[in-house]
Amino acid sequence: MNYQDFIKPFVVPHNRKIDLKHDYDPDYADDSIKKKDADEVLTEGVALLAAYQDKLYAQSTHALLLIFQAMDAAGKDSVIKHVMSGLNPQGTQVFSFKAPSTEELDHDYLWRNFKALPERGRIGIFNRSYYEEVLVVRVHPQILAGQSLPPELKDDGIWARRYDEINHFEEYLSNNGITVLKFFLNVSKAEQKARFLERIDQPEKNWKFSVQDVKERGFWGDYQAAYEDMLNHTSTKHAPWHVIPADRKWFTRLAVAATIIAKFEEIDPQYPEVTEAHRQELQQARSMLEAEDA
Ligand code: ATP
Ligand code: MG
Repeated sequence: MNYQDFIKPFVVPHNRKIDLKHDYDPDYADDSIKKKDADEVLTEGVALLAAYQDKLYAQSTHALLLIFQAMDAAGKDSVIKHVMSGLNPQGTQVFSFKAPSTEELDHDYLWRNFKALPERGRIGIFNRSYYEEVLVVRVHPQILAGQSLPPELKDDGIWARRYDEINHFEEYLSNNGITVLKFFLNVSKAEQKARFLERIDQPEKNWKFSVQDVKERGFWGDYQAAYEDMLNHTSTKHAPWHVIPADRKWFTRLAVAATIIAKFEEIDPQYPEVTEAHRQELQQARSMLEAEDA
């Protein structure tokens, strides 16, 4: 499978404006893969990811930060679960960002994200992120009103400034060996409704549903506009956005796994080279072990 080609339709260009509705179909699936083969292809992909992760961990110079943003019920949790399933838990860290606490609100908005960044050799996952600051905060002006920013900094220019700040932050991360990959799981309004109804109808899914989710759905158009503006201003060479079709869960998982594999192909992590001194130490250790009484 050619991962670089497979992921092309999802990458948001950094030098051209996109139109979310017209350019990205939530129901898209690659013709070359059939649903019945999806499990097998994903298993292969996850095995490849695990092999890359092992090298990333051993090398301990690079880190990978995966950011997931989406409307409710687009499948963030299930993608994270499936794609990360075969990985070594010691090498991954997942953080879910909810509405900020009072302590967090006493700081700048990147503060809590900084603390959650992956260490070298690790894969860090942000389930929601600082991007909420240009999404939910933009859609609901009362959230910004409630933040303790100086009033003169709550002007109309704030979104453009936040895009700049985020782009600089991600460039800084990239310059420090932390590669940022961003995923917008693009679910349609109709599919979200179907999944909400399922959460209401199936007792074991009830816990995932809150009436607030339906209220938020009422702002669908505002969210799509905020997402589109965000994609157009923060998909950069060093930290690209990927719009992942999210109406078919089996395809969403493959698309996310393929995108991570394609990035690993570029990073190309390697096991550290064994120095001559270390090689000699290994031989010495072998002799010691062999000299032991049985
Ligand atoms: P999810 O909705 O991600 O599946 P959840 O339902 O378990 O998770 P929620 O209690 O819905 O958890 O928390 C996520 C909510 O927190 C989202 O509505 C999101 O918009 C909000 N949120 C996240 N970051 C911020 C932020 N910086 N400012 C305001 N709200 C935020
Ligand atoms: Mg929620």
